[in-house]
Amino acid sequence: MSNCDKKRKEYSDDDSSNKKIKTSKLTDKIKNEIEKINKVKQNMYNEIYANIRRNNSLRNEINKLDKELYNICPHNWVRDYEQFSYDSTPKICEYCGL
Ligand SMILES: [Zn+2]
Repeated sequence: MSNCDKKRKEYSDDDSSNKKIKTSKLTDKIKNEIEKINKVKQNMYNEIYANIRRNNSLRNEINKLDKELYNICPHNWVRDYEQFSYDSTPKICEYCGL
């Protein structure tokens, strides 16, 4: 038995004597509140998904523009000291920034 399981077991053993544990029934009022909160949560999730889709679409647009830059710029590749990594020094075009 892991520590986590042990803790949970001890906690549930205490439930009967723990006065703080709510034993009230699920009333319509509580049901409505739960429904309301879950609706708000769902709207927030929908917003997150919409933002993810928007981010993906923007990333696609940027990729397209990068391809366009790659094709039209005569490029002069120079060392990029800001992007220095221990393995190699990446190159960057001093004209277009690719
Ligand atoms: Zn370039």
